[in-house]
Amino acid sequence: MGVKVLLIGLDGATFSVLDALVARGVMPFLGRFLAEGARAGLRTIVPPLTPPAWTSLVTGRSPGHHGVFDFFRMDSPASRHIRFASSRDIAVPTLWDAATAAGMRVTALNYCLTFPAPKVAGFVVPGWVPWRQLRLACHPADLFDRLKALPGFEPRELAMDVKLEERATEGCSRAEEYAPWIEFHTRRERHWFDVFRHLTETAPSDLTAVVFDGVDKLQHLCWRFVAAAPGTAWEHEWERRAHELCLEYFRHLDGIIERMCQLVGSEATVVIASDHGFGPTRQVFHVNAWLEKRGYLAWSKEALARHDGGEALLGVGQVARHTFLMDWERTRAFATTPTSNGIFIVRASGDGPGVPEAGYDAFRRQLVRELLAEKDPATGEALVGQVHLREEAFPGPFSSLAPDLTLSLADGGLVSILPSDRLVSARPAVAGSHRPTGVFLARGPGVRRGADVGELSILDVAPMILHGLGLAVPGELEGRVPEELFEPEALRGKPVRTGAGAGAEAPAAASANYAPAFGAAEEEAVMKRLQELGYVE
Ligand SMILES: [Zn+2]
Repeated sequence: MGVKVLLIGLDGATFSVLDALVARGVMPFLGRFLAEGARAGLRTIVPPLTPPAWTSLVTGRSPGHHGVFDFFRMDSPASRHIRFASSRDIAVPTLWDAATAAGMRVTALNYCLTFPAPKVAGFVVPGWVPWRQLRLACHPADLFDRLKALPGFEPRELAMDVKLEERATEGCSRAEEYAPWIEFHTRRERHWFDVFRHLTETAPSDLTAVVFDGVDKLQHLCWRFVAAAPGTAWEHEWERRAHELCLEYFRHLDGIIERMCQLVGSEATVVIASDHGFGPTRQVFHVNAWLEKRGYLAWSKEALARHDGGEALLGVGQVARHTFLMDWERTRAFATTPTSNGIFIVRASGDGPGVPEAGYDAFRRQLVRELLAEKDPATGEALVGQVHLREEAFPGPFSSLAPDLTLSLADGGLVSILPSDRLVSARPAVAGSHRPTGVFLARGPGVRRGADVGELSILDVAPMILHGLGLAVPGELEGRVPEELFEPEALRGKPVRTGAGAGAEAPAAASANYAPAFGAAEEEAVMKRLQELGYVE
């Protein structure tokens, strides 16, 4: 028994960066992988955000069907209480479930929303878990002790550490803190590789999947060092050093990918994919300030004067703190989380405040029109590239939990939700932000050599992996097996099979699991990471 399919997740990987690194010799193995396999841009879901995007990749379903829209989750459309999303919020079967149901073994390492760990046949080490909770978070129960015996095992660096994340939040404003922070991520990927190697050598799983999230984190904080052209003249020595260390991170990652491919052998299908792409962001759009200026949102003068905007709140409560500052008698539209670029419209009940049912469509159309017409005061350019309507972007049984409107900013970045005197402000330095098109690479039996098949959907990855495992693709999956990736001969020998599917979805099944998955320690650690990445102010 060996690995049939290896899925290497590179969080936030984008071809503009990877192709340049291959061209300058930093990622020689990836260059060979591309020559021996097939590639495509990978169009992600709206919004291009880590938790819903990975969930779509491993379920083959869009957010309206799987129920994950953000790092955060509201329990009902009217609720202003938010909590962190967890594995319990995924309402449809994952690849891990499908492989387990087919009698196969699964290893899933560092995927977000695998906490609490699904009870697969095999191994799960969840991502986004504080290191002190890692022992209890792993599946099966004895896995942590097994890993602890590995030479060099360092849970504090493998998982999340509040102190390390906090140091980055404060530290990366200081030049001398960049180098240790980048080197730490190089070590972290090495720790995940060690876990992968141990499990693959001692108990290989048919489906083995690992996420390396340093790609996303480096691109968030160090975009200008990662994306710099060869020969860039750096003003300061620390900048040149940060650039060199970013290249070193990718050189090291290339070596890890090469050894992973060697370990699974040439009979395995290897898929390398990202959850979204990346690009530069130079400005911040203060969306609640815009709504206020237009008269759609009102801050409570009393609450602002008292400064009782929930500063004492801890964990996820910090995100919702600005909702305590709003005057709900006079607010008709607001943005509630800093991560999803979503705007919610307050619906009136009876004669109460908000937008009455009969006026909803006209009100929403007006908002869309005004958002698309808004210009950057400094440049005269449009601020908002696209506005996605709830029912168009999120069809499915969970549609009502999604924002009424989701913005794609022209700058590619994320909104700020805090009160502000300005509509737009410049970032102190160019940062990295998510983009809709990530990467897809595949190599293995029957995969065409050197093929570029253009663009695939992130929803095509799960069908492709099920096919690679020799399983039927359930009818309700929204993507397809990209047959253009394969030699015609190979498809004749192993035709794509479709299955009946699991039947109708039952959102009730997910809502029965609303028990909070996160304790105070988990919330604190996740909040620190969101602050580190610039999501939470
Ligand atoms: Zn991501």
